[in-house]
Amino acid sequence: MNKMKIFCWLFLLCISQNLLAKDNRDRPLYKEASAPVEKRIDDLLSRMTLEEKVYQLNQYTAGRNNNINNVGEVEKVPAEIGSLIYFGSDSQLRNKLQRKAMEESRLGIPILFGYDVIHGFRTIYPISLGQACSWSPELVKKSCAVAAQEARRSGLDWTFSPMIDVARDGRWGRASEGYGEDPYTNAVFCVASVEGYQGGDMSNNQKIAACLKHYVGYGASEGGRDYVATEISRATLWNTYMPPYEAGVKAGAATLMSAFNDISGVPATSNHYTLTDVLKERWKHDGFVVSDWCAVEQLIPQGVAATKKEAALKSFMAGVEMDMLDNCYLKYLPELVNEGKVPVEKVDDAVKRVLRIKFRLGLFENPYTPESSEKERFLLPENLKTVENLAEESMVLLKNENKTLPLSQTSRIALIGPMAMDKENLLGAWFAHGEAQDVVSIYEGVQAEFKKSEVLYAKGCDFEGNDTTGFAEAFRVARKADIVLLCLGEKRKWSGENASRSTLALPHIQEKLVLELKKLGKPIVLLFSNGRPLELCRIEPAGSAIVELWQPGVMGGKAIAGILSGRVNPSGKLSMTFPYSTGQIPIYYSMRQSARPNQGKYQDIPNVPLYEFAYGLSYTTFQYGDLKANQTTLKRGDKLVLEIPVTNVGDRDGAETVHWFVSDPSCSISRPIKELKYFEKQVLKAGETKVFRFEVDLMRDFGYFDESGTRFLESGDYYISVKDKKLKVELTD
Ligand code: BGC
Repeated sequence: MNKMKIFCWLFLLCISQNLLAKDNRDRPLYKEASAPVEKRIDDLLSRMTLEEKVYQLNQYTAGRNNNINNVGEVEKVPAEIGSLIYFGSDSQLRNKLQRKAMEESRLGIPILFGYDVIHGFRTIYPISLGQACSWSPELVKKSCAVAAQEARRSGLDWTFSPMIDVARDGRWGRASEGYGEDPYTNAVFCVASVEGYQGGDMSNNQKIAACLKHYVGYGASEGGRDYVATEISRATLWNTYMPPYEAGVKAGAATLMSAFNDISGVPATSNHYTLTDVLKERWKHDGFVVSDWCAVEQLIPQGVAATKKEAALKSFMAGVEMDMLDNCYLKYLPELVNEGKVPVEKVDDAVKRVLRIKFRLGLFENPYTPESSEKERFLLPENLKTVENLAEESMVLLKNENKTLPLSQTSRIALIGPMAMDKENLLGAWFAHGEAQDVVSIYEGVQAEFKKSEVLYAKGCDFEGNDTTGFAEAFRVARKADIVLLCLGEKRKWSGENASRSTLALPHIQEKLVLELKKLGKPIVLLFSNGRPLELCRIEPAGSAIVELWQPGVMGGKAIAGILSGRVNPSGKLSMTFPYSTGQIPIYYSMRQSARPNQGKYQDIPNVPLYEFAYGLSYTTFQYGDLKANQTTLKRGDKLVLEIPVTNVGDRDGAETVHWFVSDPSCSISRPIKELKYFEKQVLKAGETKVFRFEVDLMRDFGYFDESGTRFLESGDYYISVKDKKLKVELTD
């Protein structure tokens, strides 16, 4: 190369390096993936106008809209919008919208796409109330990871789940969406689902951000009516409704949703105490709170705001950062800032919280979702196996007289009832992009499982109504069979949001079918699929065996068939009490003590529920040995270790969940009769003994919250109980 050429090359190299350096200097810090997130947030915030900031605090919808509550589609999504509820099931529309945000907005801030992925995206698994009956947080975590994977690959970044509202009234349709009546159980499954959705790193393209909802006390809805006011004392708030949220926040949940209920006069969406004093100041949550659907403007009918502007002021100042859909923030926040009613620092803090989650999700680096076929992302074999296992473990064997179950392979089986061939209703409420065609019905499951048996079918009746014309065919089929499997229950829209019922009883026509068929004298197995505890007192005696399936999702039919044949040994136990009748509500295992425990009973019904919390049978028998403690007289700070041996004395392998309850019969404030503090599920082979162990943290497990949310621990006697075993320990000063 001659000198001239070398000179030219060097010259070009210098120019290009200079250009590169200039480009790097001009590239804003918030676009530097390697810069610390907080620095990126500050940099971005410093470049934003008030209008751009306010856009980040608003959410619209986009795409197909299938929620009865969710009306309308957004025609023109502003490029600056903070978030969208995305009704699509693939990435195409998302990517288009995202491109608009990235390329047409001044700063290129990615949109956050959220949706209700409640118990699966396409691979639907059991409703949460059922999930909790598995007592397997591991399986729930794995199932949530399946949901996250399908959702993220389909264009979502964020799910409005888990719902962790402690629910003690089955009339409330939303009881199906949570983990039952117990605070500790809700807390454990909350953590499992947050871990399943988010994993350790939300920028992983298989993970999504979680949203704890509905913060807080929504489950206390009076009479089980939805959206109504709730009466919750501070002590009850802390001891019953807050623990799952505290656990979820500690587990790193990115967001929370404010609830629709009014908490003793201050709606959850304008409640400074819960949203700011506790959540942000005490628990140090650094993500954001989104309002529930139009919950900001609903402060008007709730009676605490006269105008939308006042509603915006109240909810924003209380600590709701993002306005779901009602445009109150978009319209009024700028005005409120200019009038000096909302400090700009407060807006900045809210925007930072939203941006923080976007950065953690890696959206600035990877705003688009890679395209993939449905086959590549939905209903993958390993995922179906996971949700099948969860369905198996969620089902609860409630009765099994004379070992009616499992059934022998050679029986002639009559499969009767409106749920027998049904697919859609096995999906339950909120089934995201689930499809009835994906579901294994009970009929299909039983046919495939009992290949050597004759399976006869008759619908018998519909879910409701008065038409008994199908009864005759049901009798004809039942007469021919050795055993009748009667498949009953609730339609999927009978539970979920805005789906309260005045009674837990099934419609009269279904009860009538049971009672008429019983007259034939054939053994009947009652199979129920429903979204709430049922009132079974009139029909329970007719069933030789009873299995609660809940709404088990796509693999429901296969799971129940496995239980019926004995391929699967049932291990589910109830996460919510089945009252004797609806009039017994409220009835839950952790009620407070009565002044006259032996009096005050209803005169017309038993005083105990039909099936209590944590109840469930197995095909094998577990024998509990002596409950032992490492010491029975304790001082504060001591470590108490409890152990109990459990033996599988039957001839089948099975899984047993041991529930550890604590009672404090005498305290300066009255406490529940007993409270669940720990549970563990283990598989025991036939003949095997395993020792279950509970390491007690005295403050955590014996302590109690006072009205300010401070835990205290009193000296005195405590009882630990496991099944019918009980042990007293004394805590000295
Ligand atoms: C429900 C929420 C849900 C939201 C978004 C509301 O009506 O109460 O649970 O996440 O809609 O669909």
